Amino acid sequence: MISTTYKSTRTDTRTFRFSEALLQGLAEDGGLFIPESIPNLPANWREQTTFEELGYLVLKNWLGDEVPEAALRDLVQDALNFPVPLVSLKNSPYLGENVAVLELTHGPTLSFKDFGARTMARLMSYFLTQKKQNLTILVATSGDTGSAVADGFSGQDGIEVILLYPKGQVSPVQEMQLVVARTGVRAFAVEGTFDDCQRMVKEAFLDPNLAHLPLSSANSINIGRLLPQSLYYVWAYLQMKQPIINFCVPSGNLGNLTGGLFACEGGLPVNQFVVAHNANDFFPAYLGTHTEDYKPSVRTLSNAMDVGVPSNFERLKALFTPQGLNDRLWGTSVNDQETLETMQRIYHETGYTACPHTAVGLEAVHRYRNETGDQTPIIVLSTAHPAKFPEVVEQALQHATPPAEALEILRTKPMTHNTLAPTLEALRDVLLSK
Ligand SMILES: *Cc1c(COP(=O)(O)O)cnc(C)c1O
Repeated sequence: MISTTYKSTRTDTRTFRFSEALLQGLAEDGGLFIPESIPNLPANWREQTTFEELGYLVLKNWLGDEVPEAALRDLVQDALNFPVPLVSLKNSPYLGENVAVLELTHGPTLSFKDFGARTMARLMSYFLTQKKQNLTILVATSGDTGSAVADGFSGQDGIEVILLYPKGQVSPVQEMQLVVARTGVRAFAVEGTFDDCQRMVKEAFLDPNLAHLPLSSANSINIGRLLPQSLYYVWAYLQMKQPIINFCVPSGNLGNLTGGLFACEGGLPVNQFVVAHNANDFFPAYLGTHTEDYKPSVRTLSNAMDVGVPSNFERLKALFTPQGLNDRLWGTSVNDQETLETMQRIYHETGYTACPHTAVGLEAVHRYRNETGDQTPIIVLSTAHPAKFPEVVEQALQHATPPAEALEILRTKPMTHNTLAPTLEALRDVLLSK
């Protein structure tokens, strides 16, 4: 079977195999890798009854002969070894009928980022072992990416991970998940914003002084993170048992959404994607006006979505026309007050405790249905477990969240704390000092 080939968002004079795009992270011209064409879902996708088998079949269509079948099957089974339940939200006058939450929160670090990070870590390790190579992975994280990547890669031979996160701008639980001592992982609190962290990573990739280092990224800018993020859309559709559905995606860098668009272009019957942002409203504003109004990121209660300029925006513009985006997507921006009110309202109506990111999505569902009248069954992606945000849950519901076992285990482990100035020079010293 032929594998999908990739090109840069900025020039399409050269094509790359998946393994090249995966290990390189960012194209030499500074662009992001995108597929030259999006493969169809496997012919028998509707008959699949386990997440592992479905995941294997969908990924096989993307990777073709680049990973042998047995290795790919093992890899998917090892990476995606946790439940992915679809929970129906009944009795909510606020949301209406046929609303369900897809809980992507049962992986080891309790966010949807475990899907991309764990799968990508194993794919990278597979290719590196073949090539007998080493790699340093640089990650800018607004919270959940870093812990998912650290967990996914820790202990893999030949791979070192360096995490940058904005100091004081992740929750205490998120910070604990980042700084817990892990084999082959160094975490740094950067004295700046998430955008500073992201800029430092981009600059490091383009820095001639670092050109001799084998560097890669594991952000949602890496194509290897995106492909696994299309699998659960297909799985959720099958669980919902409806002919056509909508999805609501709480979004920041738009990587989760891009995974959904891949599934949809591959043939999944999706009517609309409701794209839910917090006060960082660059993308909903773009969908409204088609102008690019760049603003710095602002801090919110749903801090894993505090992104000023979504990195995958460049991908979406390369893959779709502006009208094409408007045909598929409906965007909105939800502020912190509305987020808290929604957490409270949904808890009182249904007994469901949503994390602040998921609550942004639930509020967007209400708005979408109210403003458009479209009552198509809708699945909201739950992107993090509420136990990761105990302060916000307490503020919204006036009571504590039920604890999560994965977090109780972490609390007993050793932690290491490092800080870093928000400059390329500081990062360069770290990279050259090992
Ligand atoms: C990363 C993250 C998001 C945003 O996902 P993108 O792919 O960046 O759009 C939303 N919620 C949580 C909990 C996250 O960790």
